[in-house]
Amino acid sequence: MNIRENDFGEMRRKMVIDQLSGRDIKDKLILDIFGKVPRHKFTDPKFYKDAYSDFPLPIENEQTISQPYIVALMAQLLDIKKSDRILEIGTGSGYQAAILAELANQVFSVERLKNLTEKARAVLEEMGYKNITLNTGDGTMGWEEFAPFDKIVVSASAEFMPDPLMKQLKSPGKLVMPVGPRVSQKLLVIEKTAEGEVLEKEICGCVFVPLIGKYGWEGNNAGKDI
Ligand code: SAH
Repeated sequence: MNIRENDFGEMRRKMVIDQLSGRDIKDKLILDIFGKVPRHKFTDPKFYKDAYSDFPLPIENEQTISQPYIVALMAQLLDIKKSDRILEIGTGSGYQAAILAELANQVFSVERLKNLTEKARAVLEEMGYKNITLNTGDGTMGWEEFAPFDKIVVSASAEFMPDPLMKQLKSPGKLVMPVGPRVSQKLLVIEKTAEGEVLEKEICGCVFVPLIGKYGWEGNNAGKDI
């Protein structure tokens, strides 16, 4: 199927209206960015016709690129400032890293599967992003070298919030993560106040792929390894 650049632009416009502003995404800058970032470039061409649809899409290694609405919701919940340094756990396709990089100063993103990191790196480089740093490793350990972070977003789920992530979050700072059993989770926002107090808010039910690592689920049958 041959889709032209114009058509992608139109698909993006419709996605923003139907899936984002038509729901509870009201941040003008976030809406503008979703209207601009070419999500299809982060997917396999065989999914181009669904690249702006209201659901997650498969990428390699049985992983997914999250539904656009969830990526927008997590960004809105983080209340991102242009000066923020953000840690993302679960680079996947790199799409969310691109969205975050448009909103923030620096994005540090960790992915457990090397081939996904390298694929995301190639796409993000081609698109000209200079403020994204990628690494392959266990993101449940955070990224000590660049800590602390103003905001942290985890795009895979675990039963508990990994300890190192809490330690690497600034105060004030915010972290968004799906927490709960393997099959369905709650999207949580954890806020560290300037006084160091920790507040937790439950946003909605959600389903994410498992976060696999020292402070997450065990490996093996949980998503294909390489
Ligand atoms: N944000 C991504 C969606 C990623 S899906 C996007 O926009 O495309 C979640 C990703 O988390 C998967 O690629 C999975 O391999 C990765 N993941 C799982 N456990 C991880 C861990 N401990 N550290 C880093 N990445 C992990």
